[in-house]
Amino acid sequence: MKYPLIFGLAIITAVIFAFLLSSTSSQTDAAPIENVHQAAATDTLPSGEYPFQKSDAEWKEILTSKEYRILRDRGTEIPYVNEFNGHKEEGIYVCAGCGQKLFSSKHKYESGSGWPSYWRPIADSLVGEREDNSYFMTRTEIVCSNCGGHLGHVFDDGPEPTGLRYCMNSAAMDFVPAEEVASYQK
Ligand SMILES: [Zn+2]
Repeated sequence: MKYPLIFGLAIITAVIFAFLLSSTSSQTDAAPIENVHQAAATDTLPSGEYPFQKSDAEWKEILTSKEYRILRDRGTEIPYVNEFNGHKEEGIYVCAGCGQKLFSSKHKYESGSGWPSYWRPIADSLVGEREDNSYFMTRTEIVCSNCGGHLGHVFDDGPEPTGLRYCMNSAAMDFVPAEEVASYQK
């Protein structure tokens, strides 16, 4: 059983790296992305399941490399040094891949995890759940229900009334300020 040890060391190294970075850098747009939570490379997104479809080449064209890494390659950005962790403006967060509305500032809270956290999506139908068994853990992955893009995970240690913590990647989302929500068409 060599692999668990190697992966364990890789995860520990990545976590130490993340903490070092979070304590020394306040840059948000230059934050590197770690694959601490990334699923096995062979576990790709199912095709033909989501209404909004693009080929891999098309995704690479419309997404930045950071967005692609998270949304299509199921990466996880480094905690604390990401765009929306401490973001407090009123408005909504939409999918960076297809624009579907996902979360509202009304349901955002400070979880202390280093990632933007919400206790519910705007509507349950806007996100999909999938079992993620990477890294010897069973977690619930959250995807956009329109394009299947990876957004983050949901955990059951959130605040009332749901008790849920939707732990999202900033780079998987775009922000629409409150004054533009009424005219936002997607
Ligand atoms: Zn989407």
